[in-house]
Amino acid sequence: MEITFLGTSGTLPTERRGLSAVHLDYLGEPMLFDCGEGTQRQMRHAGLNFMSLDNIYITHLHADHFLGLGGMLQSMDFLERNTPLTIHGPPGTKETIEKLLTLGTFELDHLTVSMHEVSEGLVFEGKRYTVTAAKTSHTKNSIAYCFTENSHRKFNKPRALELGIPEGRLFSNLQDGQTIEFKGKTITPDMVLGDPISGRKVVYTGDTRPCQSVIDLSCGADVLIHESMFSSEDLESTKDAAHSTTKQAAEIAAKAGVKALYLTHISQRYTDPKKLEAEAREVFPNSFIAEDFMKVKVQKHW
Ligand SMILES: [Zn+2]
Ligand SMILES: [Zn+2]
Repeated sequence: MEITFLGTSGTLPTERRGLSAVHLDYLGEPMLFDCGEGTQRQMRHAGLNFMSLDNIYITHLHADHFLGLGGMLQSMDFLERNTPLTIHGPPGTKETIEKLLTLGTFELDHLTVSMHEVSEGLVFEGKRYTVTAAKTSHTKNSIAYCFTENSHRKFNKPRALELGIPEGRLFSNLQDGQTIEFKGKTITPDMVLGDPISGRKVVYTGDTRPCQSVIDLSCGADVLIHESMFSSEDLESTKDAAHSTTKQAAEIAAKAGVKALYLTHISQRYTDPKKLEAEAREVFPNSFIAEDFMKVKVQKHW
């Protein structure tokens, strides 16, 4: 499982940083969180294929988080993509994307796009993971997303053999959580499976002031990707900006008990990311400033 930062600048692109987009590859299944202007080119640069995306999650409808969809959807259609794409986002997403899809003389010939509006709770259920959302404190309709891998129970093979079950299909059935009948005996999964081990968890906040809902959503996460538009030195002058500072993001990470914090959505005014990183590390030592094309592997729990 690998995270790739595709755009780490706040509001305006800079020479070194594109606009908000985070790619997550879960066992070969890619998904995208936010799609700022230029994201399709950033993906090409990172060696990622936007044609493989089936789900895109938008945090809010400020242009620096979704405007890249216009070009990307046109490219998908031009390349004759005919598998459906779902765009998840807060209320207003459907109307906004419909406008994007009817700009200029553009018409979809191949691509089918569904829009799924969501305010909080379950957003998408994959085979081995879920994506959930929580409201953030930025605009009326802004949300953060949490990717959670399903929990796993280790199969106790010696125990299964002890019970006389032959290796093969019945093993698989038990591993899949099914009760089996074997030589007149009923064997339940609980008899051969260990305690559940929680799966990996990654949270992406989009833009937000520090807020309790992000702490709740990211409790115990492997990775928290939190916006950090400003230096803590500029706390006073930026307090009405509906964003977070380095230290505020680090405080959220500490309260949520996450393993690692990556700061993104950096204002163009800061040219020394190490200084911002040092500020966050005073509060939460395992903090990093994200850079465009930075890749982060999230290790398995089992
Ligand atoms: Zn933004
Ligand atoms: Zn915003």
